[in-house]
Amino acid sequence: MANPKRIGLFGGTFDPVHIGHLRGALEVAEFMGLDELRLIPSARPPHRETPLVGALDRLAMVEQAVVDLPPLQVDDRELQREKPSYSIDTLESLRAELAAHDQLFLILGWDAFCGLPGWHRWDELLQHCHILVLQRPDADSEASEELRNLLAARSASDPLALNGPGGQISFIWQTPLAVSATQIRSLLANGRSVRFLVPDAVLAYINAHGLYRG
Ligand code: ATP
Repeated sequence: MANPKRIGLFGGTFDPVHIGHLRGALEVAEFMGLDELRLIPSARPPHRETPLVGALDRLAMVEQAVVDLPPLQVDDRELQREKPSYSIDTLESLRAELAAHDQLFLILGWDAFCGLPGWHRWDELLQHCHILVLQRPDADSEASEELRNLLAARSASDPLALNGPGGQISFIWQTPLAVSATQIRSLLANGRSVRFLVPDAVLAYINAHGLYRG
């Protein structure tokens, strides 16, 4: 039997993708020894407003960003669906393509993790994956009682010790780069430079297509 693959999943609107996403993803991939870390652009995010730029442009920018950057890859399955981007659907469709013993790690910022009880079929997520929570020094969200109960039942202190295809939760500490897509959109709308906040290839794409200009 082949060794289990270790695959990380990092979803987002990526409107646009920036060095905060990329550096964070790369650090997690290296720390966890992942075979792949898939960036998964969401089509119609159920939890937030519609992205400013269309799905195909957001996808193209993420593709530009990960050229020559294994193990980072792009998975566009959420853009292929007509429905809203529910993580449970993504996990089920991934699971259908993988060996049963392959390990999936869903990577969530602490804020996103705190919102988990609002997600569609959230109590089924751990049937398909482990959850890695990126803890941030500046986090100010609080876990609800049901999440605290879940943590008490399912958390493991060492993320490197998570075994099996899924079912547990662990934390990774990471100092985030203070960059957000909101800040980048605002700079561009005001005619300011975003050089060094996004990869040069992404900047070239933004310029070539006149994206985010005010
Ligand atoms: P926006 O400003 O439009 O809300 P964003 O910069 O937060 O966007 P998203 O595409 O919404 O980007 O985020 C996707 C994922 O990337 C989320 O899990 C989010 O927590 C994480 N993320 C965003 N910015 C950073 C950063 N600077 N460092 C590490 N992770 C980040």
